Amino acid sequence: MKVDDVRMVSPRALDLEREAENPLRPKSFDEFVGQESAVRNLRVYLRAARERGEAVDHILFSGLPGLGKTTLATLIAAEMGTRLVSTSGPALERAADLAGILTNLQRGDCLFIDEIHRTGVVVQEYLHSAMEDFAIDIVMDQGPSARTLRLELAPFTLIGATTRQGLLAAAFRNRFPIHEKLEPYPPEDLVRIALRSARLLSVELDAAAAETVAARARGTPRVANRILRRLRDVAQVAGEGRIDERVAEEGMRMLGLDERGLDAVDRKLLDSILAAGGGPVGLKTLAVMVGETEDTLEDVYEPFLIQQGLLLRTPRGRVTTPEARRALGRPVAQRSLF
Ligand code: ADP
Repeated sequence: MKVDDVRMVSPRALDLEREAENPLRPKSFDEFVGQESAVRNLRVYLRAARERGEAVDHILFSGLPGLGKTTLATLIAAEMGTRLVSTSGPALERAADLAGILTNLQRGDCLFIDEIHRTGVVVQEYLHSAMEDFAIDIVMDQGPSARTLRLELAPFTLIGATTRQGLLAAAFRNRFPIHEKLEPYPPEDLVRIALRSARLLSVELDAAAAETVAARARGTPRVANRILRRLRDVAQVAGEGRIDERVAEEGMRMLGLDERGLDAVDRKLLDSILAAGGGPVGLKTLAVMVGETEDTLEDVYEPFLIQQGLLLRTPRGRVTTPEARRALGRPVAQRSLF
């Protein structure tokens, strides 16, 4: 296939709505802050595929929510000049849902499946043959008159995103020739992201306030942007339209974010375990105590608490570390040396 053969549809047509919702999403790799290794690799793979006039190999992004997996998928489609068709694991319940999407793909299109670990076994089987052979076998009719119809698909790039790569069967994971793992961002990257977002939101952000945002954003651009939007409100109502240290501190108090970025749910989670003597507490019990789903605890809250050295996952359940008491401002029990 030559590059000219790739249908040049207006970039990311199907994603325009999402784009309108989110003016902060980077529109080119140059605007994408950090994750240098992943970006460097992707640039090489995309350029090579473009020069050969082929669709890029299938790509799997893994990493915690809000680190930029969806953004990278939109950038890949934009860079390749192709469409991005977006869906998600939970939306692909039946094989027929997937077959409809696959047969409508055009040469070179990128198919983005968010939360790909939540696709069912049957859907994953369809994906196997779609990815390897660019074809799927559909069973028509039932009983003795059942027959199989093979449908050829246009060569496309599957971009999967997962917050839990451990839940993907190894055989499925191995069908992605490209696998990039996104890591939480260091504070200096989050400062750049906050300053860029402030510019796009037309609000002035002091360097010191940008550092406060970065320190409490849990290594996550989505959280940094979320905090910034609230600080903009505070600056507009209670300040002079500018986010300085005072506005930032006031906003953090309103959001219930402490110095290390712990919020009310984090504190409730740690509190619940401490109330049970420091654990171990099973995930199911903890979810009920905190009032969040098990998935949310595992995907959103626990990784940060573990990274901060406040929580441990053990085979018997979750336990807090002595540092957790300190983080909650509780006296830490002193162990006698004798
Ligand atoms: P994910 O798909 O991993 O949950 P998204 O791609 O939706 O994360 O990113 C969440 C938000 O954070 C996006 O709206 C985007 O504006 C912002 N963002 C993510 N990564 C970056 C980055 N590297 N540079 C700038 N903004 C980013």
